[in-house]
Parts: sequence; C-alpha cells; structure tokens
Amino acid sequence: MTVLGLAQLAAQSAVDTVPCREFDADLWFAEEQASTDRAQALCRQCPLQAACLSEALTRQEPCGVWGGELFERGQIVAAHKPKGRPRKDAEEVAARATARLAQRLAEVQAALEEERPELAEQLSDAVLEIVGAA
Ligand code: SF4
Repeated sequence: MTVLGLAQLAAQSAVDTVPCREFDADLWFAEEQASTDRAQALCRQCPLQAACLSEALTRQEPCGVWGGELFERGQIVAAHKPKGRPRKDAEEVAARATARLAQRLAEVQAALEEERPELAEQLSDAVLEIVGAA
C-alpha cells in the first residue's frame, strides 16, 4: 500500500498514527525473520490491522508485512524461506510455522465473521491454501 493509501485508511478510521509510520519502515520489508517478526508484532497493535490485511489480500501484495502477515508473491506465508543449505529439520520447522500461521489466521477469521464477513471468507481461503500446501 502506498503512503497515500495508508494516510487515507488512517483518515477514514480517525487514527493519527500507525506503527509502520512511527517505526523504521524497513522492518516491514526486511529479509531477516527477526525484523519481520518485530513488524508483525507491531502490526498486531495497529487499529488498522483488519483493513490493512483485507486490502493487502485484495491487492495480492508481492512482498512485505501487511496487517500482521508476511506476503510473498501475493500469498500469505508463514516465514521467509531460509537462504543457503536447508536445515536438517527444515521440514519440521516449516510444518510448525505453517500450523502456527493457519491457527492464527483461523483465529482472526473467527473474530471477523460478524463485522467483516468478506474478509473472513478471504482468510478462510488463505487457510485452506496454506493447509493444502503443507
Ligand atoms: S497493520 Fe501494519 S502495515 Fe498495516 S497500517 Fe498497521 S502497522 Fe502499517
């Protein structure tokens, strides 16, 4: 989302500040998982999280953290793919990360069922894709 887009969202929601404008914006587009984890934690405190996630899903964001989730090539992913030689326990680590992500998305989906049914449906599709791809 553009800075203008975020500003419009903030104006619509009467929100003056959002974490991605208060903190170093590079956190939201970092390649290191630790920085991405920090951005995701900050997003979860953001009053625009649901709207931001909805917009990012609609736009199929190519990269970055949006609405508390990490996007790669338009899809929500559990974590960055590690560089270099795969860890011996890579499959186990990936399965645990995928299960955590699917659980978190299912929780968000349940919380949004009444207020944002269209977003809840999008998240349901994302959960099915993640579980199906695991
Ligand atoms: S949810 Fe995250 S990326 Fe979206 S506006 Fe809030 S802090 Fe920024």
